[in-house]
Parts: sequence; C-alpha cells; structure tokens
Amino acid sequence: MSDIPQNTTARDPHETEFLQAVHEVMTSVKPVLDKTPEYRHHGIVERIVEPERIITFRVPWMDDMGKVRVNRGFRVEMNSAIGPYKGGLRFHPSVNQSILKFLAFEHVFKNALTTLPLGGGAGGTDFDPKGKSDAEVMRFCQNFMAELFRHIGASTDVPEGDIGVGSREIGYLFGMYRKLSNQFAGVLTGKGLGWGGSLIRPEAAGFGCVYFAAEMLATRHDSLAGKTCLVSGSGNVAQATCRKLIEMGAKVLSLSDSSGHIYDEAGIDAQKLDFVKRLKNIRRGRISDYVNEYPQAVYTAASAEQEANPLWRHRAQCIFPCATQNEINKQDAYHLINNNVKLVCEGASMPCTTEAQEIFLDKGMLYAPGKAANAGGVAVSGLELTQNSIRLSWLSEEVDNRLKIIMKSIHDTCLNAAEAYGYARNYLVGANIAGFLKVADAMLDQGVI
Ligand code: GLU
Repeated sequence: MSDIPQNTTARDPHETEFLQAVHEVMTSVKPVLDKTPEYRHHGIVERIVEPERIITFRVPWMDDMGKVRVNRGFRVEMNSAIGPYKGGLRFHPSVNQSILKFLAFEHVFKNALTTLPLGGGAGGTDFDPKGKSDAEVMRFCQNFMAELFRHIGASTDVPEGDIGVGSREIGYLFGMYRKLSNQFAGVLTGKGLGWGGSLIRPEAAGFGCVYFAAEMLATRHDSLAGKTCLVSGSGNVAQATCRKLIEMGAKVLSLSDSSGHIYDEAGIDAQKLDFVKRLKNIRRGRISDYVNEYPQAVYTAASAEQEANPLWRHRAQCIFPCATQNEINKQDAYHLINNNVKLVCEGASMPCTTEAQEIFLDKGMLYAPGKAANAGGVAVSGLELTQNSIRLSWLSEEVDNRLKIIMKSIHDTCLNAAEAYGYARNYLVGANIAGFLKVADAMLDQGVI
C-alpha cells in the first residue's frame, strides 16, 4: 500500500496520469516514511503532492485565415524547495492539467537527482503545432508568452521545451519574453546557440539516457556494443538516443511517431539518422516517409483499437522508449519479456504503465525510470543557466563531460539509495527515494510554507 493522501485522490479523481505518478513515488518512499516519522509529522507527503501554484490562462490567437482561435495555457509550479521551478512546456492536443501535474511532479524528483539546484514545474497548452504554418506558430507563442511572462524569471521559474516545443518555438517565446520584460535573461533554456543556448543541450536527454544504460550494463560486466535496440519516438530525445547508440556500437532497429513505426532490420546508421533529422526537424514530415527513402525498412501504422503496440513485438536486447507517457503497457511488457529483452531505459517521462514496471522489476531486468535516465536533459538546462549567469559558453567537450559525470552520479545515487532501504538494484525505488530525501529535507529545514 502506498501513502497517497486521501485528499489527493478524492479532490482530483479524474487526474489519472498525476495519480499514477504519485502512486509510484509514494509506494517507493514508504520505507523512508516508516523509518523517519518526522516526514509524516511535518506533512511532507501532503505538501509534496500539492502544487505550490497552478496558473491557467486563455491564449487567443489568429490563424492564417483571420479566424480567432482560443487555446488553454498552463504552468504548474510544483515545488521550489531546492531551486527555481524548472521543466518543459508541452504543446499537444492531449495536454490537460493531469498531464502537466504529472510532468511537474516527475520534475521535482528528476531535478533533485541532477545534483543541481532546480525545483520542479511543467507547463503547456492543448494547441497543436502539427500542420500549422510558421506564422501561426509564432502568433500562438507570442500570445502564450503575453501571459506567461509575468509568472516566470531566471530565479523564479525557467521553462524549456518538451513535446511540440523545439528550437523554433523557444525562439518565438524568448523573443516575446525579451520584448515584454525588457531583459535579456536566462529565463528559458534550449535557446539558440547564438543567443544564450548551450552546446549539447539538444542532445542531452538522449545522450544521458544512453550513458545511463551503459552504466547499468557495466554493473553486469556488459556493454552496448553489438546490442540490438528498439527506440520509439523520432523527436529530439529519440534522435540523440539513436546517435549515441550508433556511436557506442549498438544496432538501432526502429523509430516511431504518433502515426506508426518503422523497423529497419539492417539498422539505422548515421546517414539514415541524418535523413530522419531533416525529415522531422526541417521538413516536419512523418516517419512513414523513411520507407520511401529506405524501401527495405517496414512501416506499420499505429491503430487505436490495438491493445498492444506492434513496435514492442520486435525482438531486441535493449529498449529505449523515447516517445510519450504510457507507451508500454502490460501486454507490451510481456511481449518484450518473452523476447528476452535485457534492459529498458526510459528516454520519455513515464513511458511504462505501473503494470509494465512491475513486470520488468519482477523479472529482475535492468529497468531505469525516466526521472533518472532522461535527467540529462534538464541537467544540461541547469548548465545552460550556469553559463548564462557567468556569461560564458563552454565547449561541447566540457558540457558532455559534465553530463557524463552527472549521469554516473545519478546512476550511483539510485543504486545506493535502493540498497540502503533493502531494494538492491531497483533503480525505480532508488530514484524516488533519493529525489524525495533531497526535497523533503529542504522542506523540513524551511518550515511549514
Ligand atoms: N522537457 C524536458 C524534460 O522533461 C526538459 C525540461 C527542462 O530542461 O526544463 O526533462
């Protein structure tokens, strides 16, 4: 039984993604709460699951036909006990308060693991950039920032991108922030290299995820060289994961988007990955186009009726889900187990359902939750802020070395925390306990606020 406060479920019973994330953390930290009654006594659990603030706002904008459209904007400021709120902005039609509360809650623990002083937050909108012109995206971003700017700041809340928000959107958002505030500040991360961005930031979540996987395999005297891998997604995280896997000698067999997946038995090499980057980042096309360029690969369309995702039926040794939440369910997990998968390392946030996580852990597999494995993204955002503060830009080697050190530290911290509480080799429990302890101790020190 986990320690979810009754109020949390009773108040927002429809917030399924948020309750799933809370259930996972509270189940993991139960031994901590049992061992140290002060946390319960000081209401840490009740406070940590309640956002410090949620901002909801109207975003009106005009489409290319001159029609006025209205979307809903959000920023969930979950916890600032160890630093300014930090987390992405997601632009996707599925976005609602539950999804953003889950992302913000994940960030509280993920950001605590990075070793950097970053609190947790997340935001976004149900606006869908897909199929919109650049001018429409720009007008939307400007109107979104016209409200958000008064709530954020380099020492208050520092957003970044997430699904649907890449360098184009960050550019338009930053431009509007700069105009409204009359300040050139480190108020967004993922900025362009010529105006305050950091080298390696676009690659950081994917590179970090692969560094984490390499650390996990090393505990079993194994490596990524020669391993067959399934990667889902085809955005920023999936592309960088794929690139680093290729560099480490692994064979990447798949990529996907919300319409379906491609399977390339010959392996996706650096040249094919360059094609995917141009396709997704410049042409803003669909992954199905891959098979027009490389006809030996197979494209399978996703189907809403299917209970299991056909991508996870393929045989591979390592799995990198880098698309979105709950993309691996119970059936998918059984397919993977039956195909003798060795390792699941999450590039996305919460891509495995609770049942899928349990199956992987029961089988003693190497399983890393996103809040540990994909923390390299937000960690390099923290390094971008440091560079902004000292008004210097580090070379890529410097950023990449720091990223490697941070991922190793997260890996070891998870293992040590899990071991200390009797859950040896359980990265999920370790990540939740270590993240919780850092934030909970700061909250204890700072009193009831
Ligand atoms: N959206 C990314 C994540 O989930 C980046 C967040 C950030 O850098 O603030 O980690």
